[in-house]
Amino acid sequence: MQFENYIRDIQGFPKEGILFKDITPLLNNPEARTNCLKVLLHSLKNQKIDKVVGAESRGFFFGMLLAQELNAGFVPVRKPKKLPFDRISASYELEYGFDSLEMHTDAIKKGDRVLIHDDVLATGGTAKAVCELVEKLGGEIVQCNFLMELTFLNGREKIQEYPVFAALTY
Ligand code: AMP
Repeated sequence: MQFENYIRDIQGFPKEGILFKDITPLLNNPEARTNCLKVLLHSLKNQKIDKVVGAESRGFFFGMLLAQELNAGFVPVRKPKKLPFDRISASYELEYGFDSLEMHTDAIKKGDRVLIHDDVLATGGTAKAVCELVEKLGGEIVQCNFLMELTFLNGREKIQEYPVFAALTY
């Protein structure tokens, strides 16, 4: 079972010039999903994880599965104005301008060992902002992990102080 066969390329979505990596076929196939989850877990080499942090919104899918397997908490990082409780935020650069991400202040305790997960590592702006949020609350980043990395965008450079794992590279 090759789970990479369940990632679909969509040319020109959401706009021209972007090759969108669509993970919905992977989500829709339990065998491929299990296989992918195994690869992500294997990369952690049984390290203890207290919290898995998933980036909105496609980081929630495997983020939750990882948290369940690791017997860890799951923390959603969300776009502004979505989280109801006390929040911290971190901004990151977009192609034009800035956006920000938020996390609940009680989501991570000082010294928590944290796994950060998202579906795609592209420019690394999102992952970097998530790392900032985790560190603001005193979390220790054990690994940033991704289903796939678009290596030509050099996102790894933005988060080079942390261990990075991508199950697939393009
Ligand atoms: P970046 O901040 O540039 O690393 O972008 C990462 C975020 O954008 C992730 O949350 C991805 O879900 C999304 N993303 C960026 N590029 C793609 C792509 N080619 N296909 C699917 N999602 C992408």
